[in-house]
Amino acid sequence: MSSILKGVAASNGIAIAKAYRLVEPNLSFDKKSIEDTAEEVTRFQQALSTSVSELEAIRDKAREDLGEDKAAIFEAHLLVLSDPELITPIEDKINNDQVNAEYALKETADMFVTMFEQMDNEYMKERAADIRDVTKRVLAHLLGVEISNPSMVTEEVIIIAEDLTPSDTAQLNRQFVKGFTTDIGGRTSHSAIMARSMEIPAVVGTKSITSSVENGDTVIVDGLNGEVHINPTQEVIEEYKSIHAKYEEQKAEWAKLVNEKTVSADDHHVELAANIGTPKDLDGVQNNGGEGVGLYRTEFLYMGRDELPTEEEQFDSYKKVLEGMKGKPVVVRTLDIGGDKELPYLNLPKEMNPFLGFRAIRLCLEEQEIFRTQLRALLRASTYGNLKIMFPMISNLNEFREAKAILEEEKKSLQESGVEVAEKIEVGIMVEIPSTAVMADIFAKEVDFFSVGTNDLIQYTMAADRMNERVSYLYQPYNPAILRLVKMVIDAAHKEGKWAGMCGEMAGDEIAIPILLGLGLDEFSMSATSILQARSQIRRLNKADMEKLAEEVLQLDTNEAVMEAVKKVISE
Ligand code: PEP
Ligand code: MG
Repeated sequence: MSSILKGVAASNGIAIAKAYRLVEPNLSFDKKSIEDTAEEVTRFQQALSTSVSELEAIRDKAREDLGEDKAAIFEAHLLVLSDPELITPIEDKINNDQVNAEYALKETADMFVTMFEQMDNEYMKERAADIRDVTKRVLAHLLGVEISNPSMVTEEVIIIAEDLTPSDTAQLNRQFVKGFTTDIGGRTSHSAIMARSMEIPAVVGTKSITSSVENGDTVIVDGLNGEVHINPTQEVIEEYKSIHAKYEEQKAEWAKLVNEKTVSADDHHVELAANIGTPKDLDGVQNNGGEGVGLYRTEFLYMGRDELPTEEEQFDSYKKVLEGMKGKPVVVRTLDIGGDKELPYLNLPKEMNPFLGFRAIRLCLEEQEIFRTQLRALLRASTYGNLKIMFPMISNLNEFREAKAILEEEKKSLQESGVEVAEKIEVGIMVEIPSTAVMADIFAKEVDFFSVGTNDLIQYTMAADRMNERVSYLYQPYNPAILRLVKMVIDAAHKEGKWAGMCGEMAGDEIAIPILLGLGLDEFSMSATSILQARSQIRRLNKADMEKLAEEVLQLDTNEAVMEAVKKVISE
């Protein structure tokens, strides 16, 4: 039976492939008493040996595709499975308490996990995480439940998931993942952002994709219209093949602008930069004619692993990006962890409202060693290109001053030990909290630049969780409330001779671009795949006309009214 689900168009393009479910398995079981304990021990040993062979295969594949450090995670899991200190007590429990293997395994593993987690030792805490992972795998085999192994995918697939965390996404093999679709999330959730930087079509927030699709079903992800077709008819497949071809043609047209400047019809230049998550995204920036990197989300360096990246590892990544951009501006945002981006190995307590919690600069100012390590890596890399440093989630001036002072301290101490640091590094902030937008005139005297993070600015201004699809209608980038805040930021920057950019998703939005051009935004930073389309649009717009349009829409009453007004002007 074919069916269609609606969701949020999160990343452009069309993908057609077989479904691959990446979902948490149901591992619930009952405690049972067992008479033939010898047989139960054998059943446990079989589940163990299946898990070992599976993990060996995953480790080898990870080594081949993803490198030694990803393979090391699975090596650690294999060690757990061969550790008599864990295995013997489980077998003893089955024999002595006459209980089923599932129960003996879970009870014993939980005891070790709790014990290790309470130790004040990073190494032991990581072992707790390993035991938890491995227990899941063995339990799944005991229960005969399928468990997904995304790194083992060897054919083209569409990933079906409840949500994709950035660390799940980082482990996906770009060669085989043609698209993805999720139950939850909106256009600015991090799964959507990752999809755009990986240039794969995605539809998020479908509410029920995981309960509608089985492994191997044929799925079409229509990232242009936010639709997912499940087991479509041949006719629909053909139709989509032709939409895909047309989209590719359109892209070829835009591609002609790859080496062109971004100037409006009346010759006003703006900078079109790219948002990246890893040095791997640089190819996309070059191929799409990015004039700089307007947002390097460094937190992805910290994710999908078991421990903090070292200063050296960070230095290598920053240097790669700076060198790769060959002197073009690179705005590196310091660690923005929290919200929907967790670092399990930091063992931070769960929060009721993670987006309003211990996030980004708040965490960095408290856990200063993490922050200082990153700043040192950045300062050392600064001589390899045009580095600008940006602090996320600044809500008041004290935070900015404190962060800047720490940066200055690290700079001084590096220089004193003879390390070369670039002469001039601009230091700016993200404006993503309304208090900071309102105070932009004061901030502008102290910062070198602003970059408006509309993904968060909109969620905080409208009080609407960016991850919650039930309130996604409140993601209203054209709401005059948002536009007025953006205007305040741009005007404040210009008054002090500073520049203002935008790195939230709004910067690449076809309806927002004419208004932002009119408001005088200097830098637009977006998913690399949106750059050429934006350049093509800006080249057709007249800045003087857009100034009038901006003035007019600031006086309108609703998001919809602004959208209509812009549509009318751009279709003329
Ligand atoms: C933003 O909030 O607009 C932004 C660019 O940062 P992130 O999406 O990573 O929170
Ligand atoms: Mg943000």
